[in-house]
Amino acid sequence: MFCKNCGKEIDDKAVICPNCGVAVEREAPAATPKTNTLAIVGFVLSFFVAIAGLVCSIIARKQCKERGEGGAGLALAGIIISIAEMVIAVIYFVIIIVALIAAAGAM
Ligand SMILES: [Zn+2]
Repeated sequence: MFCKNCGKEIDDKAVICPNCGVAVEREAPAATPKTNTLAIVGFVLSFFVAIAGLVCSIIARKQCKERGEGGAGLALAGIIISIAEMVIAVIYFVIIIVALIAAAGAM
């Protein structure tokens, strides 16, 4: 690489230019992609309102792919949690129905 101050070639690992003593400026490292906001919202919502969390997470996952944003894993977690909650809710509902039918039959 070359010193931006004096233009002299310097070592890639050099922090200060040995020629002019100026701190070597490096190109900023590639910024980490920002996390998709909807992925966070969807993840949080999945704990409270499963269907809203599921919808937000699905949209967020699509946005992450389209925009190259971070949070695809978070969105996937939101989707899994939402679906798991709905499955549990359905099982719970079925158990109650079965229990009611059994109770009615016992009378
Ligand atoms: Zn220099």
